[in-house]
Parts: sequence; structure tokens; C-alpha cells
Amino acid sequence: MRQFAVIGSGPAGFYTVEALAKSYAGGARIDLIDRLPVPYGLIRFGVAPDHQSIKAVSRRYDKVAEDEAVRFVGNVAVGSDISIEELLGLYDAVVLATGAPNDRKLGIPGEELAGVLGSAAFVGWYNGHPDFADLDPPLDGGSAAIIGNGNVALDVARILSKTRGEFAESDIVGHALEALERSAIRSITLVGRRGPHQIAMTPKELGELGHLEAATPHTKSDDFPDEAADAALEPGVRKSVGHLRAFAEMAADKPKRIDFDFFARPMAIEGSGRAERLIVERTRLDDSGASVGTGEIYAIPASLVVSCIGYSTPPIAGVPYDERGGKFANDHGVIGDRLYCVGWARRGPSGTIGTNRPDGYEVAEQIAAAMAPGGGPAKPGGAGLDTLLAERGVQATSFADWRAIEAAEAAAAREGAPREKLVRHADWLAVLGR
Ligand code: NAP
Repeated sequence: MRQFAVIGSGPAGFYTVEALAKSYAGGARIDLIDRLPVPYGLIRFGVAPDHQSIKAVSRRYDKVAEDEAVRFVGNVAVGSDISIEELLGLYDAVVLATGAPNDRKLGIPGEELAGVLGSAAFVGWYNGHPDFADLDPPLDGGSAAIIGNGNVALDVARILSKTRGEFAESDIVGHALEALERSAIRSITLVGRRGPHQIAMTPKELGELGHLEAATPHTKSDDFPDEAADAALEPGVRKSVGHLRAFAEMAADKPKRIDFDFFARPMAIEGSGRAERLIVERTRLDDSGASVGTGEIYAIPASLVVSCIGYSTPPIAGVPYDERGGKFANDHGVIGDRLYCVGWARRGPSGTIGTNRPDGYEVAEQIAAAMAPGGGPAKPGGAGLDTLLAERGVQATSFADWRAIEAAEAAAAREGAPREKLVRHADWLAVLGR
């Protein structure tokens, strides 16, 4: 019997486990290990709480977790509770599916001021990630600047704009819902260092901004090239640009505004003791499509700055790391002898949830090619892990434990909402009587 460990129970981890279980068809045992007591990673903590249809993919993952060859082992931090070296001693192969949960830094003066947050922190706060439960973002000023023109920036702008009623069927956590309802932010500026044709926002998500109850999006017609130039765009981008053009014509008849400020490169964040304004330099595109400064500097009022410029994978001791790419150094998912990576930890933070499926299957195929079912000396696998965790006093959670937590969260849900997430380790473990 082959023994495998997949580290990280987000989409990449689940697809890899699914692929390994299929390919070994009963000839392998797979432990899906997560540092949190609850599964799903990005699906639970990254996907926006008002995008429940995207989160529904977790039901497919449940089937994977309930396969008898598979075991969810939560509340175990690889790197501190157990090392990679130890895991390689216990299992035939180890796959790192640890995602990219760390914020990339802007690298500009003032980034350390109160009121300047990375998107991982801000998104983690409204999605109930335990690391950010106490973030308490400042929402008492009137204006927010959101840096970046990707889908995460869009999520953050939408969440800052929605009314309590618009969150009715979401699973936004109670602490965020209350704080957002009291928020004084009326002006939201989405800051892009390039132009409308270079956005990384997808049409469906961008279109949502045009239908908000209390906010209207605005673009400036002058920022767009001639409409004929849109024909050369890839269809998805063309559709997004169509939305952006329509936003230039929208009436400003709602209490909140979302302004797209294109061709603006962040230079500094200023304020006395806390963020008050974002200083930007006007840019233009050079022949390669990169942004270059024009020397024109101006300020955007911002008591809250959320930078949504991408993520990196946290390094793990003993695992080769690609500093520039912010991910594990790997060749098609292979890090080293019997050590693999998948998903954002392999490719960097891009693509949709579905992109992780072929990624996980490809790595599982490589493992299957390298390790025939049943071959090689028997490894201790999960039994060995349990012994080691017991010696260290680590209280792992099982998928049945998660089901109990899930039931407690569903029972505590606001009317119309699917769940009220528990957000702290102590609360999760209390449900389990620990
Ligand atoms: P992203 O799509 O890579 O966008 C990052 C944005 O940050 C880009 O506009 C980039 O501009 C900008 N940027 C990078 N460095 C910057 C800097 N130093 N100063 C100013 N701007 C900077 O990343 P993301 O928004 O974090 O999304 C990650 C992935 O998750 C994407 O694949 C996204 O589609 C996906 N996602 C999907 C959804 C959904 O609802 N479908 C929701 C959230 C995330 P340049 O283009 O100029 O580099």
C-alpha cells in the first residue's frame, strides 16, 4: 500500500487527492493535512462571501474527503508541528498544496502606517480567517484606495460597497457585517498602474459593480483608446472593457462612488500616524505595454488603503524556494526526491479554481509514473503520523470533526445565510469538546 501526504486542503490539495485516489484505485492511503482545523482553504477563506455559487465546489471536495482511501488531518502545521523531512520519512511522496496566503509588498514609503492593509489580511478578516479575526480595519474615514486591477481588488471594492441587505445570503462573518454596516467610507478609488485594456478583471465580476444598491462605478472616457482598438482584445477582456466604457456613462445617483483611476502608480502613503492619502504618479504605457512615470504626481484621499497586487507562498524550512516568483522552486511540480507541489504554491497566484484540477492531475500522474502501486518498502503513513502527533500533544481534527463544526456553524446562521463561521481555534475545538 502506497502512503501519500498532501499538505493544504484548498482546491489544489483536493484535486490532487482526487487524482491520486483515482489513479491508485484502492492501492494507496492519502492524508490531506491542513494547518487549520477546518478544510477548503481558498474556498472558505478567499472566495468572496457573496459568491456562494463558487463556494459550492466544496461539495465535490466532500466526496473526495469521504473516500475510504482518504483522511483529512486538520490542525497540523507542517514546518512547526512536523517537518518536511519527517513527512518524507512517513510517506512515499509529499505534495505541497499550501497556496499563496501571504501578501506581496508594495515596497513604497508609508506602507507600515495604520490603515494600510494587504488583501490577504482584509479578505481574511471578512471571510473569518483566524489569523485576521482581530484586524479591525479602519472604516471610520470617508475614503478608501484599492491598489490593483485584478479580481481581488474588485472583490474588496464590492464588499466595501454592499448594504447589509445585499449580504443576506452570503456567509460574511458577523464581525465584518457589523463593521461594514457602520462604515463611513463613501468614496472608493480603484488604482491601476496601467489602463483599461490591461485590466485583469473578469467580465462577470466586473459587471456586478454596475448593479449595486448603494454604489455606482465610474470611469473617465479620456482613459480609453478609440473604441475600434477593443476589437484586438481577447473576448473576455473585450467584454470587461465594454463594462468599463458603460461605467463612464452611469449617473452618480447613489451614496457611494467607486472611481477607476487608471494610469496611476503608487509612490507613497502619507498621513500623521495613520493613512490619509495615497500619493501616485501618472503613468503612460511604453511600447512593451509596461507603465512608465510621467512625472505628474497627485494625491488620492484614503483613510484605508488595501493593496491587492498578488500573493506569495510562505517558505517551509528545507524546501527550495523561488524568491522572485514567491513560490516553491519546482520543475513541472517536482521539487525534489518524492517532494512535489501543486496549485499556487507551484505556479504562483493566478488562474481560476478550475485551473488547479489539471495541475493536481498532472502531478498525480507523475507520482503514479514514479511509484507503482504496491511497490517499494512499506512506509508508516497515517499511523506513523498519529504516533508522532500524539507524542507532541498535537490535537488533529478529522473530517467527522469538521462535519460537527459545519453543523454548529449552520445552526448559528443568520436568517437566509448558509452559516455563521466560527473564526477562532478555541471556538472550533470547543464544538468538539476539547
Ligand atoms: P492579479 O489578477 O494578478 O491582479 C493583480 C493586479 O495588481 C494587476 O492589476 C497588477 O497590475 C497589479 N499590480 C501588481 N503589482 C503592482 C504594483 N506594485 N503596483 C500597482 N499595481 C500592481 O491578482 P489578484 O487580483 O490577486 O487575483 C489572483 C487570482 O485569483 C487571479 O487569477 C484572479 O482572477 C483570481 N480571482 C478570481 C476571483 C473571481 O471572482 N473570479 C476573485 C478573486 C481572485 P499589472 O497588470 O500592471 O501587473
